[in-house]
Amino acid sequence: MKKGITRRDEDFSRWYTDVIAGARLADYAPVKGCMVIRPNGYALWERMQSCLDRMFKETGHENAYFPLLIPESFLHKEAEHVEGFAPECAVVTHGGGKQLEERLVIRPTSETIIWAMYKKWIMSYRDLPILINQWCNVLRWELRTRLFLRTTEFLWQEGHTAHASAGEAEEETLRILDIYRTFAEDYSAIPVVPGRKSEREKFAGAVHTYTIEALMQDGKALQAGTSHFLGQNFAKAFDVTFQNRQGEQELVWATSWGMSTRMIGALIMTHGDDQGLILPPRLAPTAVVFIPIFKGQTGHAEVLQYVAQLAASLGKEIPHRVDAREEYTPGWKFNEWERAGVPIRVEVGPRDVQRGEAVLVRRDTGEKITVSEEGLKDRVAELLDDIQRSLYERAGRFREEHSHVVDDYEVFKELIADEGGFVRSFWCGAGVCEDQIKQETMATIRCIPLEDGGEEGRCVRCNKKAHGRVYFAKAY
Ligand SMILES: [Zn+2]
Repeated sequence: MKKGITRRDEDFSRWYTDVIAGARLADYAPVKGCMVIRPNGYALWERMQSCLDRMFKETGHENAYFPLLIPESFLHKEAEHVEGFAPECAVVTHGGGKQLEERLVIRPTSETIIWAMYKKWIMSYRDLPILINQWCNVLRWELRTRLFLRTTEFLWQEGHTAHASAGEAEEETLRILDIYRTFAEDYSAIPVVPGRKSEREKFAGAVHTYTIEALMQDGKALQAGTSHFLGQNFAKAFDVTFQNRQGEQELVWATSWGMSTRMIGALIMTHGDDQGLILPPRLAPTAVVFIPIFKGQTGHAEVLQYVAQLAASLGKEIPHRVDAREEYTPGWKFNEWERAGVPIRVEVGPRDVQRGEAVLVRRDTGEKITVSEEGLKDRVAELLDDIQRSLYERAGRFREEHSHVVDDYEVFKELIADEGGFVRSFWCGAGVCEDQIKQETMATIRCIPLEDGGEEGRCVRCNKKAHGRVYFAKAY
């Protein structure tokens, strides 16, 4: 009954696609580069959304919605922004059968339309700060696409805030970075390196960009969320000023930040194994699945009744379901739920009913644990915590084993070419060096870590003096 999942060491990229198909998370759409998110994938996204949304609201943010269509001229108001995004934009030229007077861009991100509105809403320091988030889709024309990681249209949240001072905006940028770090580590069980992007890698239109970077099982890095300090760039472009407490006119300070369905790709590639997806319990739409096992028709009703009783004892806090489908064998179901990444499977047969027991099976280790009916809820809760923790630790060990401190460029090149992983080296800060390294090795600077250790050394490429090590890797 094994539906073939390619082994990771055989072909990681095929493994990734097989896991998505096996767990029925997503499918390719009729339009090249677009993706259909199937119910299992969407349920996972909803868990992610509700968790992030709660953290945004706890820190004073509100949700709003801005339109999908943006006048093309808006994009041209910020020089770097248009340079970065224009090549990826889809443009609407006709509507209602007629050519439009002004062409409209389908949003690749919403800074421009939002700052056009902020101009109307911000007059004085009393109108600040504005802390808005929106959940939406965006569109960036991609030539090479991969499900969840790079698709032409994707879902995300984008936060856009306006502040009266640079300090306040900076603080906001880092507050959000910390929310992203918490979400990645405590909920997704993905260890990340928080840091700043180099000038070359920052967001088009930002003063600087902060990021969290994760390491996937094939040794490539993945940018999991970014938070941008936009300075006064968009206020300048859209002429958004406010009257400060001294009665003077001043330009408004801005941030923007986003996390997307890409995070699902990060989950798959951090935790998955050769049997398929493994979901961290805190994000799993179904944390526990009950599978009744029948031996012919005897005891059929008793088993079902007992399973219903067990399931009810878990209460609402632990999302669970009973798979009582008659047309599939238990073995088939085991396999299916394994591929779907459900953290705990509970097997119940006629003998378990007699003994008042159940057998729990951990998805991450395959370990089987027999528990009594009365002890079920506590044991399940305990086990879910343990799975959550071990997934995080396992990913942390993997990252340790695949992170290297390197001072010699030949070693650097070899490591990046063979093993991959994070390479921590000194960099002089020059964009030219960064470009050369990228050309010669395909590795990019993933981030300049927030904690740089204060070490002094020499640039791995040009040997000039450098301060602090940065993270290099090949990346998604
Ligand atoms: Zn250099």
